Amino acid sequence: MPLILDGNRVRDDIQSELKPRVEALAALGAPPGLAVVLVGNNPASEIYVRNKIKACHNLGIYSESITPPGSISTEELIAIVGGLNARPDIDGILVQLPLPPQVDSKRILLGVAPAKDVDGFHPCNMGNLVAGLPGPRACTPAGILELLKRYRIPIAGKRAVVVGRSDIVGKPVAMLLLHEHATVTICHSKTADLSAVCREADILVAAMGRPAMITGEYIRPGATVIDVGTNRLDKREDVARIFRNSVEKLASYDKRGSVLVGDVHPLDVVEKSSAYTPVPGGVGPLTIAMLMANTVASAERRAGIC
Ligand code: NAP
Repeated sequence: MPLILDGNRVRDDIQSELKPRVEALAALGAPPGLAVVLVGNNPASEIYVRNKIKACHNLGIYSESITPPGSISTEELIAIVGGLNARPDIDGILVQLPLPPQVDSKRILLGVAPAKDVDGFHPCNMGNLVAGLPGPRACTPAGILELLKRYRIPIAGKRAVVVGRSDIVGKPVAMLLLHEHATVTICHSKTADLSAVCREADILVAAMGRPAMITGEYIRPGATVIDVGTNRLDKREDVARIFRNSVEKLASYDKRGSVLVGDVHPLDVVEKSSAYTPVPGGVGPLTIAMLMANTVASAERRAGIC
C-alpha cells in the first residue's frame, strides 16, 4: 500500500510549532494580525474566510474581516487595502478571490504592501520566489513543499512534472521544486502527449481543476503524486463512474448531494503510486497552515526578531 501523505497531521504539526512563536510576539506586545477582505456574498469564499479566521483564533493571531458590498469599485477597494497597509497592528492582508467583475483584481493585488502580502501573489514576491530571495511564498505551493519535506520524499535530482501553470499553484510550485534541485517540467492544456510526460515523473503534481483526469496511465509506478485539485461532483453517475460504484461514496453523495474528488483518479493512484495526497485531507489543510506561517513570519519581521 502506498504512503498516504496526511495533510491534517502536517497542518497540526505546523500549527503546534507556530503557537510558541505567536506567544513570544504577544509577550512583546506585538501579536500577529491578519486582515481578510471578503467582497460581496460568495458562499464558497465565505467558507474559506471563516476557516482562515477560525485558524487565527485557534493560534491566538488577531484577525479582522472586512466585508465590503459586491458593488464596490476598484478605487474604493484600493482605499481599504491602503488603510490596512498603514496599520501597524496588521501584518498580513488577504484579499479573497475571486473579486466581482467590475473590480480590477490585478490593481488590487498590486495595492497590497509586499511585506504584508501573506498570499505571496504580489509581483514583488513572485520575483523574490524566482530569484530565491526571502519573502512570503504562495500558501498552497509552500504547503506542498512542507508536506514533501516532512515526509522526507527526496526531491533533489528527481524528475518533477507539474500539470497546471496558474500563478497561484502551478508556476510557484514548479519554482519551489526547482529550488530544491528537482528537474521540473510544467504542463498545461496545450501539452502534447500529456500522459507520456507525466509518466516521466518521480513527483507528479496535478493542479488543473479537472476531476480525476490523472488516471493510472499518467502515473509512473512508484511515483509520489500530489493532488491539488478540489472538484465537487454533483451528479450521481459521475460519482458511480469515478469511484467504481463505491457503496461508501454513493451513500455520501446521497446524504450530501455532492462528493469531493481531486484531479487524480482516487483509485488508480492507490494502485500506481508509492505516496500520494488524498482528497480531502491532503494538500487542502496545508494552505491555511502556510497562511498562518506567513502571517507569523511577517509579524516577526515587524518586531525585528527574525
Ligand atoms: P487554474 O487557474 O484554472 O489553472 C488550471 C491550469 O490547468 C491551467 O494552467 C490550465 O492550462 C491547466 N489545465 C486545464 N485543463 C487541462 C488539461 N486538460 N490538461 C492539461 N492542463 C490543463 O487553476 P488553479 O487555480 O491553479 O487550481 C487548480 C486546482 O487546484 C483547482 O481544482 C483548484 O480548486 C485547486 N486548488 C486547491 C487549493 C487547495 O488549497 N487545495 C488551492 C488552490 C487551488 P492552460 O494554462 O493552458 O489553460
